[in-house]
Amino acid sequence: MYSSRPPSPRPDGVPADTPKLTRRGLITLFSGLAVGGAAVADVLSGDGVDPVVEVRRLPGPRRPPIYTCDAWRARPPSSPVVVVDQRPSKILIHHTATANRNNVAPVDLGVLTRAIQKFHMDTEGWIDSGHQFLVNRGGLIAEGRHRSLETLLKGKSFIEGSQCSEYNDVSIGIENEGTYTDVDPPAGQLAALRALCAFACVQYRVDPGHLYGHRDYRDTACPGDRLYAMLPALRTQVAQLVGKGADWRASAPLTWPLLRIADRSVAVLAAQHLLRAAEVPGVPADGEFGRTTADGVYEFQRRHGMELTGMIGGGSWPLLAVPVRPGQGGEAEAAVQVLLNRPGVRQVRWPTTMTQATWQQLLNTA
Ligand SMILES: [Zn+2]
Repeated sequence: MYSSRPPSPRPDGVPADTPKLTRRGLITLFSGLAVGGAAVADVLSGDGVDPVVEVRRLPGPRRPPIYTCDAWRARPPSSPVVVVDQRPSKILIHHTATANRNNVAPVDLGVLTRAIQKFHMDTEGWIDSGHQFLVNRGGLIAEGRHRSLETLLKGKSFIEGSQCSEYNDVSIGIENEGTYTDVDPPAGQLAALRALCAFACVQYRVDPGHLYGHRDYRDTACPGDRLYAMLPALRTQVAQLVGKGADWRASAPLTWPLLRIADRSVAVLAAQHLLRAAEVPGVPADGEFGRTTADGVYEFQRRHGMELTGMIGGGSWPLLAVPVRPGQGGEAEAAVQVLLNRPGVRQVRWPTTMTQATWQQLLNTA
């Protein structure tokens, strides 16, 4: 997510030196999008967005068409971009949290990417766009931070972004235009996202199991509940595109649940015990994520220098989920006990010490 502010409309377009997005070119470049042989119209209809790209069933991941920074007339970065001299180990999926617009032509892509770059540079104070790539709702792909495409094509290094604090030196980020809290992305956008992920996985040798949502590493709702819920399917589809086949599932990642205001669950109760174990004052232990619990989360985030969101996601969980030994007592053990003792769960073995992975396993069944 980059901001809550939609870009201001401006009737200027992408200049004539943009990639030639002819229909034939798109079909060639957009190969590798296995869509079960369904007709293009079937795949892309029904969501109110006229696709800009066509999708066709062809084998193997290929380079999708990508609008370069020059093509969408990006401003130069305010200081030289940083090249990370290794391949990223993961790809993080975001949504822009902007309006779900249906104007998705190249001209609109330029308006969007320039507005986002302006926000990232002038408001956030970053040197350039925060993300490496962006997919618009029509399936057009744009380079974000300068040189992201050049390094992707070489496949040996990448450009450090500003898309996920503490993880910018190990991951690249893909923004998806729109807000996917309550609605799904259009099919054309998903097809382009799949193609881009598959190409990036091949170029950077990233396991498709290491496609994550922003919330997996930070305390944020990004990329929206609906797009986030599609990530398991995206991993499977990308794995198929890169030829990893059906045995890929073994590498499906363990993640943290996102907890936020008005949630009510055993996981919330466990988190409350862990906040109390961290000596955050005033947090109740009632399983309800109310205002006082949110205040406790803000306090916890403040202590750790994290963005203050009042949510518990992939930022706070790794710090809350401390090692716990059976019988040590106190609030941390109480957190384990509420997860083990809830109705319907039987014989979950408590290992010698709770690790991050065992916390994740327990929480994901809560
Ligand atoms: Zn995000």
